[in-house]
Amino acid sequence: MSDWEDEYNEGGVALQKPATKLPPTEWKLPSDGRQREYEYFGVRNRSRFEDSREERADRNGGGSEYQSRRGGGRPFPRSTGGRSFGDEKSPPVTLTVENSSVGRVIGRGGAKIRELEESTGARIKINKGDYEGEVVIFGSAAAQQKAKEMIEELVADVNSRFHNGFGRGGGCRGGGGGDGGGYRGRGDGGVKTGSVWSAAELQAADAVPARVPIDWNSIRENKDKYEQLKWKDVPPLKKKFYTEAECVSMLTAEEVSEWRKENNNIFVDDLKEEGEKRPIPNPCRTFLEAFELYPEIMENIERVGFVKPTPIQSQAWPVLLSGEDLIAIAQTGTGKTLAYLLPGFIHMDGQPVPRAERGGPGMLVLTPTRELALQIETECKKYSYKSYKSICIYGGGDRRGQINLVKGGVDIVIATPGRLNDLQMNELINLRSITYLVLDEADRMLDMGFEPQIMKIILDIRPDRQTVMTSATWPTGVRRLSKSYLKNPMMVYVGTLDLAAVNTVQQTVLIVHEDEKKSYVFDFIRNMLPQDKVLIFVGKKLVADDLSSDMCLHGLAVQCLHGGHEQSDREEALKDFKNSRVRILVATDLASRGLDVHDITHVFNFDFPRNIEEYVHRVGRTGRAGRSGAAVTLVTRENWRIAAELILILERAGQEVPEELVLMAERYEKHKREKEMCNPGGGQGRRGGGGWGRRDGGGRGGRDRGQNWGF
Ligand code: AMP
Repeated sequence: MSDWEDEYNEGGVALQKPATKLPPTEWKLPSDGRQREYEYFGVRNRSRFEDSREERADRNGGGSEYQSRRGGGRPFPRSTGGRSFGDEKSPPVTLTVENSSVGRVIGRGGAKIRELEESTGARIKINKGDYEGEVVIFGSAAAQQKAKEMIEELVADVNSRFHNGFGRGGGCRGGGGGDGGGYRGRGDGGVKTGSVWSAAELQAADAVPARVPIDWNSIRENKDKYEQLKWKDVPPLKKKFYTEAECVSMLTAEEVSEWRKENNNIFVDDLKEEGEKRPIPNPCRTFLEAFELYPEIMENIERVGFVKPTPIQSQAWPVLLSGEDLIAIAQTGTGKTLAYLLPGFIHMDGQPVPRAERGGPGMLVLTPTRELALQIETECKKYSYKSYKSICIYGGGDRRGQINLVKGGVDIVIATPGRLNDLQMNELINLRSITYLVLDEADRMLDMGFEPQIMKIILDIRPDRQTVMTSATWPTGVRRLSKSYLKNPMMVYVGTLDLAAVNTVQQTVLIVHEDEKKSYVFDFIRNMLPQDKVLIFVGKKLVADDLSSDMCLHGLAVQCLHGGHEQSDREEALKDFKNSRVRILVATDLASRGLDVHDITHVFNFDFPRNIEEYVHRVGRTGRAGRSGAAVTLVTRENWRIAAELILILERAGQEVPEELVLMAERYEKHKREKEMCNPGGGQGRRGGGGWGRRDGGGRGGRDRGQNWGF
């Protein structure tokens, strides 16, 4: 006896699916040549099975078998493999029935199928498929026809009862007739196409499938109730601190539009989904227009010596001071930090609950990397307002020290999501007091996989807070995040800023061989002037270490920055570079975004970055704050995928495009076409959907921008 048979005997009632136990051949065709494992004839049990074994003796006596089954309840018919049953000469007829209707045909414990067989004289077999079942009808043409009609009627009845109004057709399609039906004309009794019905399924098969609807309303209500309960004790919150200056109110629509256009093409939108859209506040063209009512802010700005708001600031300030949530699509270097920090200061200061009674921080800035966190903290300290205390919480830093600082009382927490979530889970930080939340560089946080931590952190922040989100790009993930955590936000988008910076950077592209790269970079360093400062980008940590050690061996003062180094080493490297203790920094893309070192004169791309956006970010590290900069990029044959996109960037920035780069782009285009011709459907399986081999599927950045501002 096969394993499957053992199971059958053990099981007693239902025919068990052999799953992995049976070798495929046995599963397909039992030794007696019949199809028992995928047939259903009423309820099977041990004794019936034994009957069936007895049948083996007389399995050549087709007609009698049919008779005896009827009379003695023998469960298995003979194989129909092309043979007839007594007077049943017609080939089997097959109907396809939706799985949801098969139960109706079987009936409770097989009652319906028996009834059908008895009243029509046909024999009925059901094969279960993944979505549809096959009803195979044996017998004389008349019996088959009668059974077919009855089954169709039965199924139509089920469908009209359960699918009415869903536009679905009948649940039963004729599929056999003369073509051999369910056996597809095979002489061997056919190969199993589906599994049989289990006892549970048969029990459930009684005409009306029970559907227990999920009460979403009640679930939602409970959630709302829980939320209300959780936040019922939070103190009142104030968000509106803006009074539009008269000269700002007086601006005409044309003046506003002209001004926005001239200032990096500012784009503002109200993303409120329901009801009427709100008027978008006019931009503040001067600091005074925004902060006339806040002299301490004005003093700070004057102290640092800024002349006028950056485009993002001029449009973000009125929105944020009005208490609205904001999405700022802007990159580092645009002044976005100050765009959210100053309204944050005013917001914290304006809360009805005095600072001493709040019991925790008022502002939280979540940011992807330690470097950015430290940089934001520096900004925070630079514009110190009302002596607000800020702390930086990031992984790799001194955890105990950070905890002590939190316990000592802080107003502003600047944190990477992982470490903050760790403190939150260990109840070492109170997030209930936060009323102003910033998700800085949201796209990068998502790229780094911080979404779960962000989600958990926000669960503990009051939902009526004010939320700001900044992102360099506007891909789907960021949209989803904004939809989850911001309420009716306004969006401010300032034209691609690194791109704008890129326009001021002189860019040189050199086509080289891999093994020539070192001599190029040393050549470059030899020609550096004393005041020059170069950021050399490489693709891998190993290359960064190798190149910087080589330089050290050549007596050059160099620092190296990558994610494999200890945090303290990273901070030191950056500090040395910022202070100009070293003028050469070799770094991976860790430094491509967010590093705010004003006086980098050159970016040297030793390795070409992963994608063209990273190129833009890298190049944007120079030419900052109105300075001019230069970028040198080494491109090898292996980089041919990006040639076309690089050409576009160079052309847009009015830079010279090397002839060799054009040829490279053409060669790649040709290669791509040839590949597609050989493998027309081949593109589908490629990671990221193709397009210059970009890992991110090419959906981010430029292509995503400006296309669809709504959610
Ligand atoms: P961020 O984009 O926030 O990283 O800012 C980049 C740099 O611009 C920081 O060093 C800021 O201090 C500086 N910055 C911010 N606002 C202004 C402004 N209105 N004028 C000049 N520099 C600014």
